[in-house]
Amino acid sequence: MKEVSCKLLVVGAGPGGYVCAIRAGQLGIDTVIVEAIKPGGTCLTVGCIPSKALIHAADEFAKLSRMAAGKSSLGISLAEPKIDLKRTVDWKDNIVGRLTNGVAGLFKKAGVKTVHGWAKFRDGKTVEVETEMGPQLIRAETVVIATGSVPVALPAVPFGGNVISSTEALALKQVPGSLAVIGGGYIGLELGTAFAKLGSKVTVVEALPRILPLYDAELTRPVGRRLAELGVEVLTGAKATGLDARTGALNVETEAGKKRALPADYILVTVGRKPLTEGWGIEELALDMAGRFIRIDDQCRTSMRGVHAIGDVTGEPMLAHRAMAQGEMVAEIVAGHKRSWDKHAIPAVCFTDPEVVSAGLSPEEARAQGREVRTALFPFSANGRAMTMLGEEGFVRVTARADNHLVLGIQAVGQGVSELSASFSLALEMGARLEDIAGTIHAHPTQSEAFAEAAMRALGQALHI
Ligand code: FAD
Repeated sequence: MKEVSCKLLVVGAGPGGYVCAIRAGQLGIDTVIVEAIKPGGTCLTVGCIPSKALIHAADEFAKLSRMAAGKSSLGISLAEPKIDLKRTVDWKDNIVGRLTNGVAGLFKKAGVKTVHGWAKFRDGKTVEVETEMGPQLIRAETVVIATGSVPVALPAVPFGGNVISSTEALALKQVPGSLAVIGGGYIGLELGTAFAKLGSKVTVVEALPRILPLYDAELTRPVGRRLAELGVEVLTGAKATGLDARTGALNVETEAGKKRALPADYILVTVGRKPLTEGWGIEELALDMAGRFIRIDDQCRTSMRGVHAIGDVTGEPMLAHRAMAQGEMVAEIVAGHKRSWDKHAIPAVCFTDPEVVSAGLSPEEARAQGREVRTALFPFSANGRAMTMLGEEGFVRVTARADNHLVLGIQAVGQGVSELSASFSLALEMGARLEDIAGTIHAHPTQSEAFAEAAMRALGQALHI
C-alpha cells in the first residue's frame, strides 16, 4: 500500500476543509487534503452556489413573465418568455465547474497535495484512503475533520423515485408541473420559491406553526406574503405522514387531525441537514460529542490531541462562512499563531423573496437575555432607492442596549438585502453604537441608507419617516 506522511491532513474539501488546506499551504505547512467527490464540497457543488444560480434564473424568468403578462409598472412589454431548464442547469454546472477547478488550482498554488477518494480513520493520526489507484495510507501529525453534512431523510417519506433532496432538485432537467416541499426552512423555501417562479404549482408542508421558524415573525412576514402572491400554498402545523401506496401522493395531516393527499410530480424533502459522522471510522477515535456534532473548543480542538474539527460536522449554524472562518483559524493555529474563536456575529441569509438577513440578536432574543433594549426599524417603503427597484417591501431593524447604545443585532428583509449583511456584521464586530451607524455617511440613493435611518430612529431622530 502506498504510504504518505505529512504535517497536516484535512479530511473533506468543503468550504471548511479547502480554506484550511489553502491557508495551511500558504503558511508553508506540508498539507494533504482528501476529498471523495469534488473540491468545494456541498457549498460549491450542490448547495450555496448552484441554488443561488437557480434562484437567479427563476427571478429573471419571473420578471419577464410579469412583463409579458402586462403587469409591469415599468412600461415594458414583451412576448411570453420560455425557459429551457436543461440549458439553465448546464449554465449552473458550468459555474460549479469553474469554481471547483478554481479551488483545485488554489491547492496547487499553495502547494497542497490532494488525494481523491474516501478516507477512513484507523486512528487519530492515520487514515486509509480508497483511491482509484488502490488504497493509500496517510500519516499526519495533525488532522482536521471537515466531513460536513448530509440531508436528513424522513423515514415516512424515504428518498428515491420522485422523492428528492435539494441535490436532485438542483439537477432537474424540466420544470415540474407540481412540487410538494416538506420543510419550510431556508433551503425548502429558496428552492420552492424558485420553482414557483419557473411555473411549478408548489405546496410547502411545515410541521411548526410558521415558516422559517428560526427567524422572528416580523422578519419573515413579507416572505409569507410573497409566497401567497406567487400562488405557493403553505400548510403550517402540518405533518407529512407518508406516501399513498396507490397514487404516490403525499399524505399530510394537520394539527387538528385533518388528512389530505397532495399529488405532486416531485416531493422535495428539506427537513434539515445532519453532520456526517458515519462511514469514516469515527468509531476508531475517542471523540467527545455535543449531541450529534463533534464537540470542539474555541480553537476547534476535539477531545483528542492533534485532532481538530471544523464546519457543519461541529454544530450550528451550519453555514459555509462559519466553516471557512474556522478553517482559516485552524490552519493558523497549526502554524503556531495565537488564534481563538472570538466572533461576535455569524450572519445568516435566506435567499428567499424577499431576502432575509440576521446578524446578532433579535429584539426578543436580547430581551430574553434580560437586557433593556432600544429597537427600531426603517421601512424600505420610505427609501428612495428601494422604490426605484420596485423593492418597497421590507425593512432594516436595529437593536441596541438601552444604556450605552451598543448594537446587539441587526436584521433586514427586502429585495437584495443579502448584500447589506457585510455592513451588519462589520458593525457588530467593531462594537458599533447607534451613534456610529447614524453618524456614518451612507451613499445616496442606496438601500443601505435604511440601516443608518434605523439607527437614527432608535435614537429618536429619524429624518425620512
Ligand atoms: P461540506 O461542504 O459538506 O463538505 C464536506 C466534504 O467532505 C464533502 O465534499 C464530502 O464529499 C467530503 N467528505 C466527507 N467525508 C469524507 C471522507 N470520509 N473522505 C473524503 N471526503 C469526505 N450555506 C451558506 O452559508 N449560504 C447558503 O446560501 C447556503 N445554501 C445552501 C443551499 C443548499 C441547497 C444546501 C444543501 C446547503 C446550503 N448551505 C449554505 C450550507 C453549506 O453548503 C454548508 O454549511 C457548507 O458546505 C459546510 O461546509 P463544510 O466544509 O463543513 O462541509
